Amino acid sequence: MELEKYIDELKAAAIEARKFASVNAANFTVGAALLTKSGKIYTGCNINTSTLLFNVCAEQTAIVKAISEGEKEFVAIAVCGEEAEKEYDRLLPCGTCRQLLAECNPNMKVIEFNKTQTVIHTVKDLIPHSFDI
Ligand code: ZN
Repeated sequence: MELEKYIDELKAAAIEARKFASVNAANFTVGAALLTKSGKIYTGCNINTSTLLFNVCAEQTAIVKAISEGEKEFVAIAVCGEEAEKEYDRLLPCGTCRQLLAECNPNMKVIEFNKTQTVIHTVKDLIPHSFDI
């Protein structure tokens, strides 16, 4: 699969998905767009509750949506926070999401970006010693 042709679409989808974030306790909104091997894109936003007892990251939302619809092979995920529309800072997945992504595909690409920069990582570079049973 030619990832290059999907990068702009993934970035735009992540920015759009962030708009649906539900953040009661913290004003930190995140969007994610997950590309499957079949070429489909699943989006996700973070969902936080005021009690902080139920919190789901944007990456987790996208992965759950994809897996629940039968997808098993993932190629890349773009992740963005508010910074995506600015020229500073970028956003990478949290530790829990890095572990989840590693279990999905350690060779999956993670697209980190803002208004002027795009950096592509490999999951195994972000979590080189992920947990594995
Ligand atoms: Zn996370």
